[in-house]
Amino acid sequence: MSRIYLSPPHMSPDERELLLEAFDSNWIAPLGPHVDAFERELAAFVGVPYAAALSSGTAALHLALLLHGIGAGDSVLCSTFTFAATANAIRYVGAEPVFVDATEADWCMDIEQVERALAAERARGKRVKAVMPVDLYGLLPDLAALEALCEREGLVLIEDAAEALGSRRDDRSAGSFGACAAFSFNGNKIITTSGGGMLVSHDAGIVERARYLSTQAREPFPHYEHVTVGFNYRLSNLLAAVGRGQLMHLPERIDARRANAVAYREALADVPGFRFMPEPEGTESNHWLTCVLIDPEMAGVDREAVREHLAADQIEARPLWKPMHLQPVFADCPSYGSGVSERLFAIGLCLPSGSSLTDGDRARVIDRIRSTPGLR
Ligand SMILES: *Cc1c(COP(=O)(O)O)cnc(C)c1O
Repeated sequence: MSRIYLSPPHMSPDERELLLEAFDSNWIAPLGPHVDAFERELAAFVGVPYAAALSSGTAALHLALLLHGIGAGDSVLCSTFTFAATANAIRYVGAEPVFVDATEADWCMDIEQVERALAAERARGKRVKAVMPVDLYGLLPDLAALEALCEREGLVLIEDAAEALGSRRDDRSAGSFGACAAFSFNGNKIITTSGGGMLVSHDAGIVERARYLSTQAREPFPHYEHVTVGFNYRLSNLLAAVGRGQLMHLPERIDARRANAVAYREALADVPGFRFMPEPEGTESNHWLTCVLIDPEMAGVDREAVREHLAADQIEARPLWKPMHLQPVFADCPSYGSGVSERLFAIGLCLPSGSSLTDGDRARVIDRIRSTPGLR
C-alpha cells in the first residue's frame, strides 16, 4: 500500500516548463523576471495592488511587524490557535505575543476576547500595537469586524493568510484585509514553491520597503552602502517560476480540496460524535485541510485511536494545532480565552487533504477510519 500524505505538493507540467525556462535563462538569482511576474500575478489574484515575493511566510510576517515599527516593549495580540511561525515572528522583533482564544463558530480569533485582552493589557500598562489574526485551515475570521476594531483602537492589523490563499469572507479575499498580509508557499500549503512567501498590501510604500529590507537593505550606490540592518529574505527566480505555474492551477486545486471536504463529510455523516470544521455564513474556504472533531464519549474512540489506526495503514493524519499558550516556549506570555482552542486541540484531527488525493485514496482513508476498533 502506498503512503497517503496529509497535504503533499501537487505539480503539473507547467511548473516544470517554467522552472526549466528560468534555469536556461540563467536568472538563478533572488531576482529576475519570474519574481516580478509572480508578484504581479498573485497580487491580481488576491485583488491587492502590491506584493513582495519572499523566502517564506515567516519572513513576510517578520517584515510586516518591522515595517510597522513594532519592536521591544510592544505587545501584539495573536491567535493562540495557529502554527508557531505567527508567534515566532512577534518574538523576532522583540515584542510580546498576547494570545487570544478561538471561537466555536469559526475556530478563528475571538473578537470578544480581543477586546478583553486589549483592555486588560492596557490596564497593566502594556503598549499594545498590533493584532495578528490567522485565517485558520483556509477559514477567515470576521476580519471586517477586526479591521473596524483596529481602526477604532489605533492598532495595526496584520493578517496571517498563510493557509488561506483563494479563500474569501463577505466577498473579500484572504490577504486583502488590514495593513498587510502574509502568504506561505511552504511544501504543505495549497500551492508551493518548496519554500516561499509573499507580503501583500494596499500600501505601495510598505511593499517597496519590504523589497529593500529583504535584499540586505542596499542603498543605491555602485558600492555596497548600508544605513539599516537588512535581511536575506527574497524569493529566488527559480522558485518564483514554480509559483507562477502553481498559481495558474489554483482554482482547480481549491475545487479538488473542496471535493475532499464534501466527500469526508458525506461519508462520515452517520458516525456518532464526528463533527467537521464549521463554515459560517459568508465564508468561502479554500479547504486547505479537512478537519474533524471526534467526541470520544459519543464515538467510542478518541482522536489518537483514529490517528494511530490510520498511521498503521500508512495514512498520515495530524492533530489540530497545539495552541501557542500551551507551548513551553511561550509559557510566560499572557493569554486570554475560555478553553475553546484547548478542546479543539484535544479532539481534532486533520485528514489527508491534498489536491492530488484520488477517489480511491479517499475511499481508503474513509474505510480505514470506519474500521477503527471500538468505533460506534
Ligand atoms: C505555514 C504557516 C506560516 C509560515 O509559513 P512558512 O512559509 O512556512 O514560513 C505562518 N503562519 C501559518 C498560520 C502557517 O500555517
